Amino acid sequence: MKKTLRIGNLEAAPGQKVQGVYTVEGTQLTMPVTLINGAEEGKVLLLTAGVHPDEYPGIAAAIQLAQELQPEQLCGGVVIVPMVNYSGFLAKKGPHLPADGKNLNRLFPGNANGTEGDRLAYAIARDFYSVCDYNIDLHSGGIDEEMTPLIFFSVMGGAEIEEISRRMAKSCSVRYIVRSTATNGLYSAAVLQGLPSILLERGGNGYWCQEQTQADKRDVCAMLHTLGILKEAVPPAKEPEEIETTKYYEAEATGCWYPCFRPGDKVKQGELLGEIRNERDEVLSRCVADFDGVVLYETSSLSILKGKALVAFGKQES
Ligand SMILES: [Zn+2]
Repeated sequence: MKKTLRIGNLEAAPGQKVQGVYTVEGTQLTMPVTLINGAEEGKVLLLTAGVHPDEYPGIAAAIQLAQELQPEQLCGGVVIVPMVNYSGFLAKKGPHLPADGKNLNRLFPGNANGTEGDRLAYAIARDFYSVCDYNIDLHSGGIDEEMTPLIFFSVMGGAEIEEISRRMAKSCSVRYIVRSTATNGLYSAAVLQGLPSILLERGGNGYWCQEQTQADKRDVCAMLHTLGILKEAVPPAKEPEEIETTKYYEAEATGCWYPCFRPGDKVKQGELLGEIRNERDEVLSRCVADFDGVVLYETSSLSILKGKALVAFGKQES
């Protein structure tokens, strides 16, 4: 039997696309939502973007896919939330939720009695995870972060979920897929509730362009096809490399950050990844590669604060 798709007060019968607004219980927060219920029966994927509202390529990709995908192309359905942190997108004041100043991607699975961000996370977990079988969460580097396109997939949901998540990740046109043990993000909490899920990162520095957005759309469609939801195949891309071990270097001093490499660059053990200097250009701290690896992402601003992220460095298995 074909199922009606219901989230909040939105409802899409089989073969129907419905666009509307979801309101988070106990808050003033709203989010645009699109339900696309396929003409044929199948699984349902939740596509989210804009958890960090200044990460634009994925937001644009989700907006465009919500218009372009049609029920007759699908077995199952797709639920699209292009701006999860919609109030943050409208406020344009950085990556956090304006109402409570929290990083939404650290709040899952949320709390019905907490702040606005806690309640938003709780509402996603209760109302969206419960009617969906998979999640793709689209991100970019932050406003002062540059990165090579990559995917995080969780290893915390058991072997079967890990394997489906890996299969989703491997269909994408990114260079690297990276294992993650995080549990409090939108996609990583979804994994703990039984949804194979991935986080796709492309772009950064508050920048977006149609090329990045097209690449995100291509990858979402490739994953939808891999999962049997999108009927039409997507031309295959070169298979990404899996990164098992990642080291996250943090600043040992406040000062000026001078990276020696760019994201995607290969670096040998012992080579200088970058250094922090003071205002007289004297070296305060050096960041040296602990193993042969690749720069996945790094801070792109000159200004750096002690304790903040400098470089995410992935070990390359020989
Ligand atoms: Zn993000």
